[in-house]
Amino acid sequence: MDLSFSNYQLVFKHPFGVSSNTRRETTSIFIRLQAENLVGYGEACLPPYLGERPEETLAFIEKAAAFLKDFGPDRPAKFFLDALGQLSPGCHAAKAALDIAIHDLYGKLSGLPYGAMMGIDPPVMVPTSVTIGIDSEEKLATKIREAEAFKILKIKAGTKDDKELIRTIRRYTDKPLYVDVNQGWSDKNMVLDQLNWMAEQNVVLVEQPMPMHLVDEMRWVTERSPLPTIADESVKRLSDLENMNEAFTGINIKLMKSTGLREALKMIHYCKKNNIQVMLGCMAESSCATTAMAHLAGMADFVDLDAPLLYTNDPFEGLSYEDGFLLLPKENGMGFRLKSQLWSS
Ligand code: MG
Repeated sequence: MDLSFSNYQLVFKHPFGVSSNTRRETTSIFIRLQAENLVGYGEACLPPYLGERPEETLAFIEKAAAFLKDFGPDRPAKFFLDALGQLSPGCHAAKAALDIAIHDLYGKLSGLPYGAMMGIDPPVMVPTSVTIGIDSEEKLATKIREAEAFKILKIKAGTKDDKELIRTIRRYTDKPLYVDVNQGWSDKNMVLDQLNWMAEQNVVLVEQPMPMHLVDEMRWVTERSPLPTIADESVKRLSDLENMNEAFTGINIKLMKSTGLREALKMIHYCKKNNIQVMLGCMAESSCATTAMAHLAGMADFVDLDAPLLYTNDPFEGLSYEDGFLLLPKENGMGFRLKSQLWSS
């Protein structure tokens, strides 16, 4: 099988602000895996906060290419996913790209969409939240207007005064809110006060309120919280989830953290067994990785898969939105389609 890559800059429609920084562009490395005249695509999304650099991602992809070129697609996907997972430690985004591309290719080879190939029911009428980054009141108002079709908004908090931020949002909309603090609060009494206040403002859940290392404080807050507390930065892979020890009531699963769909599915099954809520999220991904994740949306309690709405130059199309609900493409494999020229041949 032949593996090649394309290094790409996704350009944001609006500069994207979270509690730590604001960005105008974001890097994704797209991969193409070819066998028997069929092609599977994948994406490694590399926002700076992920801590995975393009150089190490490309080095991993080159190692993977050297391994894959000796094989055809005549072994089970599991063989390749196991072998690639052990090529180097880390490189979660590169592993996610390979996981997506292999599943896409194998779906196409078997003539089935990914969900049918895996025995997963397609999501039916699943609403997604749409994310509103930190911004001026005027820009917030514009973004809220642009998100009119969506039923739930996700607010990036962790500002100097988050109560004021919510009051500002409430001047423009009374929709339910997911609030993502991105580790921005640290005093447990203050956190609990914020959660109690937000529970009265039609906030539905709060994501990663405290820094990752404050595990005991986070458990103290979760025991008392009127709202679901969702781990994002604190839980990347299945092993983190197994060690979470009730510090949160739910987790936000993302392909770029979990190394792809295979481990994301294992994490979902673990959550179902242990009464942990499941949120499916994305990083600054194109329609490639976001469409892949959307195949699992029927198994989630909360879905936050809005990233394709953020760019002016998404090279893929796939997942679409109707009245704030997700619509999956029906084609074989992941169902996404490359619409820009990313490879010369
Ligand atoms: Mg988050």
